[in-house]
Amino acid sequence: MSKHIFITGGVVSGLGKGITGSSLGVLLKNSGLKVFMQKFDPYLNIDPGTMNPIEHGEVFVTFDGGETDLDLGHYERFIDVNLTKGSSYSAGRIYADALEIERQGGYKGKTVQVIPHITNLIKSKIYEIEKNNDYDVIISEIGGTVGDIESQPFLEAIRQIRMEKSKENVLFIHIALLPYLKISGEFKTKPIQHSVKEMLSLGLQPDIIVARSEFSFEDRLRDKISSFCNVPKENVIECSDSDSIYKVPLTIMKSNMHKIVAKQLNLKINKTDITEWENFVKNIDSSTEELEVCIVGKYVELSDAYLSVIESLKIAGYDLKHKIKIRWINARKLSNLNIEEQLVNAKGILVPGGFGEEGIEGKILAAKYAREKDIPFLGICLGMQIACVEFARNVLNLKDASSTEINPNTRNPIIDILEGKNTKKIGGTLRLGAYKTKLLKNTKVFKLYGEDYVIERHRHRYEFNNNYKKMFEEAGMVFSGIYEEKDLVEIIEIPNNKYFVACQYHPEFTSRPNKPNPLFKGFLSSIIENKQ
Ligand code: GLN
Repeated sequence: MSKHIFITGGVVSGLGKGITGSSLGVLLKNSGLKVFMQKFDPYLNIDPGTMNPIEHGEVFVTFDGGETDLDLGHYERFIDVNLTKGSSYSAGRIYADALEIERQGGYKGKTVQVIPHITNLIKSKIYEIEKNNDYDVIISEIGGTVGDIESQPFLEAIRQIRMEKSKENVLFIHIALLPYLKISGEFKTKPIQHSVKEMLSLGLQPDIIVARSEFSFEDRLRDKISSFCNVPKENVIECSDSDSIYKVPLTIMKSNMHKIVAKQLNLKINKTDITEWENFVKNIDSSTEELEVCIVGKYVELSDAYLSVIESLKIAGYDLKHKIKIRWINARKLSNLNIEEQLVNAKGILVPGGFGEEGIEGKILAAKYAREKDIPFLGICLGMQIACVEFARNVLNLKDASSTEINPNTRNPIIDILEGKNTKKIGGTLRLGAYKTKLLKNTKVFKLYGEDYVIERHRHRYEFNNNYKKMFEEAGMVFSGIYEEKDLVEIIEIPNNKYFVACQYHPEFTSRPNKPNPLFKGFLSSIIENKQ
């Protein structure tokens, strides 16, 4: 039977519940436990797949094709476990399930209500993971902040789980803001007290309180939080801001958070060995030399829209002892008139994924600039597609070459729709999740991965049109990765350039601390070599 840890947030959003939960996961995993993580989001979209990245940040794709919240990326990078579609539920998905059951007569004429029907469904999603696996611990984060109307059914569900399974099997962690008032020079515990009061009114007593503060606070504040919020003093965990999210496991380890958890949940843990994680953190601290990468994207207003790309660059950078600095370039504004100025001194250009027409011409210009000036280039998903369009237009001289996503009437559809896909329905109609790519020997990517086959995750609708393959090859493009079953192009590269590599899949979802995805490492290594 798995033990359950539920994480709630208090006072304000954006305190890093996901990071704290994952950090606890790191400590428990490195104490010999099998850990899984889950996130419940209170919004009504079925999944973030159709949400605007500028609003919601990136969509993280699980290997089984789940389009999930970006926090799952943190979970995977921290606990290094492949999560699944069952790791991410929105209120919308739960309600959609309930309505489906209702339409099929599954509620046998009963009035369908939030309690018990929605709460039962939420509980079933939590128990499902437990039933079908042998995890020691399942950490579930409840998105939003305690007090939000939307999150109430989730809080009620976890209250019931605690009642059904008791305190030895279910633990509540509440992460709340401990603000510092500059004007009076003191920390204020009142918001935490109010937040816990709010939880109590819902029948939830936190077992551990993580006080998120700007900087370290005096011990007596733990006494105060302890006495006002009914938790033992040692269960008040200090978690002050850190210059890297990857240092948080070390921060909470200082307060023995994992041991407190193990004690209450009666979990036998080994001596915690986080040497590998510590080495990674040492790498972060010794990575002092800056390395600039230009990212040409259209969601540049919100860096979270490219979260896994950024983390992958950072992780690969640390591996090479470099600290990544990003120059954001808004593809929508990039034109022939300003490209020289925008990409002046660019050492490496990355064009990430994206959807729709806007910003396409800017991205095509950036790919052309990188190819012609032999600046290391990495194209991801849409980044590969536009690199192909650029090559067709400017090397093969097919001036109207395009993707049918952008110009459905082009005479040269270099990138075209997958057959049999319904384009009208936009939710859940993409090629999603893990597929196997065969790598061509004697290519850059083969050298980088060092394997015949790699499994990477996808999220796209359009593909390279094989009718053009021969022309591309004759002009010097190499198709170095193929999805054999359907003969789809997965990777392209131009061997005459220092590093011009682009892939149809998303390599950013498989980078882990100390294990950067090879395409990112190859890209950065090439920038470094180029500098020397
Ligand atoms: N819009 C492109 C497609 O659907 C690329 C998607 C992406 O970059 N994730 O194929």
